[in-house]
Parts: sequence; structure tokens; C-alpha cells
Amino acid sequence: MNKSSLCALSLALMGFLAAASAVANDLPVLSQSQFDNCLNTLKTSFANKGVSASTFDTYRPAVPDPTVIRSLNYQPEFKKDVWDYLSVLVDAERAEDGIRAKHAHADTLRRIESRYGVNPVHVLGVWGVESNFGQTLGKKNLFDSLATLSCFDRRQSYFRGEFANALKIVQRGDVRASDMTGSWAGAFGQTQFMPSTFLELAVDFDGDGRRDIVNSVPDALASTANFLAKRGYRSGEPWGYEVKKPAGMWVSSDRRNKKPISHWRNQGYTLPDGSPLPSSLSSAGILAPAGNDGPIFLVGKNFDAFYAYNASESYALAIAHLSDLIAKERTDTRFATAWPTDDAGISRRQSKEIQQALLNAGYDIGAVDGIIGDATRRAIMDYQRKMGVKADGRAGQKFYQLIMGTPTSSTKPVAAPHHQSVLINQAASSASTVSETGAVKVEQTTTIVPSNQRGLVGGGQRYRMSIDAHGNRVMVLDK
Ligand code: CA
Repeated sequence: MNKSSLCALSLALMGFLAAASAVANDLPVLSQSQFDNCLNTLKTSFANKGVSASTFDTYRPAVPDPTVIRSLNYQPEFKKDVWDYLSVLVDAERAEDGIRAKHAHADTLRRIESRYGVNPVHVLGVWGVESNFGQTLGKKNLFDSLATLSCFDRRQSYFRGEFANALKIVQRGDVRASDMTGSWAGAFGQTQFMPSTFLELAVDFDGDGRRDIVNSVPDALASTANFLAKRGYRSGEPWGYEVKKPAGMWVSSDRRNKKPISHWRNQGYTLPDGSPLPSSLSSAGILAPAGNDGPIFLVGKNFDAFYAYNASESYALAIAHLSDLIAKERTDTRFATAWPTDDAGISRRQSKEIQQALLNAGYDIGAVDGIIGDATRRAIMDYQRKMGVKADGRAGQKFYQLIMGTPTSSTKPVAAPHHQSVLINQAASSASTVSETGAVKVEQTTTIVPSNQRGLVGGGQRYRMSIDAHGNRVMVLDK
């Protein structure tokens, strides 16, 4: 799997990119006359595709938006491991929100299942990863973005098609023009459809005559189910499952090479607990996102349908994993086999805590948004350097413990943080020994001796610390 070649259309991914690109303020300079001439040409050609001149003129932007061209050409400075993607996309908070949504929309989901044959938890998995259950839709004006992308830089012909389609959507009255906001690339609504996907697959499920994937949850969820159904989804099948490989076998990812389950059984694959592979999956291929030493999955056609949503195996696995947690009503996000790292990824809540601590330490990283972009990572590198630990710029559990004030750490800071506010922040959070996986409901007793603040918070006192179902740390002085 190529972890860096993530499709540019998902809002969730856009979050990483947007935060990162907010750092580099070198905006491209776009020619106004080129933009004007380009739009004049498009107005004529779109008229032949059914976009009226008055529609075009109504939504025609006056000036190009250079930020979308910067996003188009953004190259990440840092590589992300699959467990870092997964830990943010599938954290306890999102699992909880999904479980709540399953109950809140049970009736709608049942009716969608009977029409499209798609398991409600699979619809919820997509909804949760794509738009955080309808809470994160993107704020960029689609006409500004798509007009600019239609007239400058790479992939103009693709974006011209999407620009025309976006105009058709408002011309038909499905979605209000003021609701046509989304990612820089033009994905919009609770389903994060591109306009072409919308025209092909969006449905009106609440019966008001409009396919409104922005404001109508039934429309958005049914459109998602319709998408999956049209992309090869098999009713009644799981997406796949985690497996235990035969002892001594070297496994590599080969998702598309699907074989009947009997083949994998004969090879010695079992479920993680050793029980036989269920026959509910008709055929499957191996997905080993972190190679031979990480969790290994057998994935079927429904995983491929998730993959069609965003052309990234990490994203498809996030959808799959989230759907399982929602189905089992579980918030412990660990797989049976741990990721091959001694420094697990962090949740969105922990990301925000790290960002706040960096802000307190005087780092200019922008807003606390829970998105670890390039600016945050550069600040982390600097902080790591000052503390005398490996400066890789990565926000994992070890860095979380370092900056929040860890009770027991093998690392020996060589320098005190350069701001008093850090100490205050660390003092307030000094019992934060979150388990490697950020697992919930762990309970442990810990001795608080933050290495860089002894004496500040009563070093040596014993606390009983637990993490509640919301992932909040609860600490009680152990007398
Ligand atoms: Ca509707």
C-alpha cells in the first residue's frame, strides 16, 4: 500500500492538508485576465452541457482562489504511518458518536437497509469517517474552488467537469447554492460526494423531491448506501475480519487477489482467537497494512466498496474498523494484533491537548483543531530537540506523555521547557498515563514524578487514575 498516495477528495484527509497548507503562506499568484478569459470560454461550453448562461453568471466567481491551487500542489513534509491515520480516524470518541447515531437513526437505517441491502453499520462507518457524522462538511465555496481549479494548474479538464456538475446541481434545485461548500477539491455534503458522484448516485430518501445531502440525514445516508450498492457491495456479507496467520508464514498485502474462504482455511488462517474463519465472507484477499508484523485482515467485496469511496486502503480500513466498533458497541479501538510500534497513535482529543500544550509553550501553530499538520509537527520537532529526545516530529503516545508530563519515562529531558505555562499545563495533566493505545476504561495506580517538575506538583504522591468511557482522565489521590 502506498500510504502517501491518498486520494485528494476526502474531507477528512483535506483536514490534514488544509492545516498543513495553512503554514506555508506562499500563495501562488493567479492571473485575473487568464481567469476571466477562461470563465468566458467555460460559459459557452457549459451552455452546451445544460448549464444556462444565467446560472453560470449567478455563481461565477469574480476572482480566483489561490489557496485551492496551493492545496492541489501540497506535498506533505512528513510521512504518516497507518496507525497514526487510524488512531485519529477511529478513536473512542468517534466510536461513541457512531453508536449514538445508530440508535438515533435506527428507523431510517432500517428502511435504507431494506431498500439498498446495505448493513446500517457500514453506512455509519462511511458517515463517521467522511464527515464526522455530518458535523464536518467543509467550508470552501464550491464555485470559487472549482472555477479556480478549472482555469489553473493541473487537472483542469477534470475540474471543469465537476464545476459544470456543481452548477447543474443548484440549477436543478437539489441543494441550495449557500450549502454548496466543501473541501478545496469540491467534495461536499454529509457524504462528501464530488458533484459528478452526486449526479450519479445521490437519492431523495425523505421524499421532499430534493436530493439534499447537506441538510437531510435520510438523503445523505441513503445516498451513501446507494453508492456502496452501486460499487459492488454484497448484501449480508461482512467487509472482512482480522485473522491470525499460520505460524511461520510471511504475509504481504494482496487485497485484490481474492480466493474463497476455504482456500484461506486450508492454509491455516483462523480468527484471532483460533476459531475457524466464518463462511459469511464468500471470497477475500489479504490486507496487511503494516506488513507481516502488524494486524492482518481478510477483506472482501464490501471492503472494496469502501475503497471506492476514497481510493485509500487506510481510509477503507478506518471505515471498516469503525463499523465493527459501532456494531459491537465497543470503544476500545485496538485490533487483536497490535501495530508494530512501541509508540501508538493518539486520538483527536489527545491531538488537541498536544496542540494546546504547544501553544502554551509559545509555539505558533495556529488554532487547536486536533489536526496534526506540518506546523504542529515542526513545533513538535523543536520541542523534542529541546527535551533531548529523538526529533522526528511525530505526535504519538510517547510525545503525548512527554509534553503532558509523564510519570514514568525512560527519556531524560536535558532542558526545561522554555515557558512557565508549560509547567502549569503539565502540572494540571500530570497523571495522564493513557495506555499505549488510548484504550478506555483502563485503571492503574501511578506515582507522579514528572522528571522536569519535581516539587511542583507534589512529586511522589500516588494517584489512582482511570479513563472513563469518554476518554477523559479521572484521577483520584490515593491515600
Ligand atoms: Ca430529500
